[in-house]
Amino acid sequence: MPLYCKQCEERRYPQYSSDDKGTLWLCNKCQNFTDADDVIIREQTQEERDAIKAKAEEFERTSKFSGEKLSRRKGVN
Ligand SMILES: [Zn+2]
Repeated sequence: MPLYCKQCEERRYPQYSSDDKGTLWLCNKCQNFTDADDVIIREQTQEERDAIKAKAEEFERTSKFSGEKLSRRKGVN
């Protein structure tokens, strides 16, 4: 399995995609996906980048909330 990127040697992460043939392996640095045979399938799309960024921000928000008082929670978004 392509655990590491051939180009930059960063760790790849498995991402299940129903649009593709199952699980693809993402390199966050090169922003592309390989299949299980380490063949580059496609580039990460802007949409996918945004989704991951939104998730990361959401995670940051929720983990911050657990550490501080919830007094300032004004439901924006
Ligand atoms: Zn890479």
